[in-house]
Amino acid sequence: MIDTHCHFDFPPFNQAPAQYWQAAREVGVTRMIVPSVSEQNWQAVLALTERFAGIYAGLGLHPCFVDTHTDSSLAALEDALVSRPLSCVAVGEAGLDYFVANTAEMKQRQHALLEGQLWLARRYDLPIILHSRQSHNQLLRVIKAYPGIRGVLHAFSGSAQQGKQFIDAGLMLGVGGTITYSRANKTRQAIQHLPLSHLLLETDAPDMPLAGFQGKANTPAQVSRVADVLCELKDCDKDRLLTETSGNAERLFSLK
Ligand SMILES: [Zn+2]
Repeated sequence: MIDTHCHFDFPPFNQAPAQYWQAAREVGVTRMIVPSVSEQNWQAVLALTERFAGIYAGLGLHPCFVDTHTDSSLAALEDALVSRPLSCVAVGEAGLDYFVANTAEMKQRQHALLEGQLWLARRYDLPIILHSRQSHNQLLRVIKAYPGIRGVLHAFSGSAQQGKQFIDAGLMLGVGGTITYSRANKTRQAIQHLPLSHLLLETDAPDMPLAGFQGKANTPAQVSRVADVLCELKDCDKDRLLTETSGNAERLFSLK
């Protein structure tokens, strides 16, 4: 089982990473992708990939952290990608967040950073890990201007039609804790209609706690429960579901 989106350099994991990784391994998690949010945490994320076999990194500039990005951040990202270790398997986390960007200027900065990272992903032939909140249509428009791009829209929530549009634009969809909430009807129905060949499992830990675990930090071990709910929605046994979704992640991120 692969958790394709976990912020494992964040608290509480950074207090006892070996313990949390062990707990994840005990429920069958074999690999995990840790995206980064800012130039300031690239080193910490890469250090995790050196310390733990099975942990891989994405290097990127998250749209919610625009205040920590500078005019030289994209150039620094390119330098980091040029000298990347094999454990760096993606650009990201990049994207748009119109919930956070409430001014035209912030939206413009998010767009510039996103386009820079899409360009780098294509230039270095890496998949891109994308975040989108209240910005699906805008993100889709930008992605379509980068034919040949591949990547994942993480923590997908939306309609089946939106999901299909992202798949047609070259993306996979990350499925996380949202589907464990019965009130998330639109997303649950969308996932039922979207092809398993384009779905990835993720937790977004420590964020996005599952139904029944609100108020607690989410953990990568919970990806097993996300898989259980996805099995119900897709009417699929767990072995097949894990084989398919792990295969998708292996192909997208070129994991061995
Ligand atoms: Zn994230």
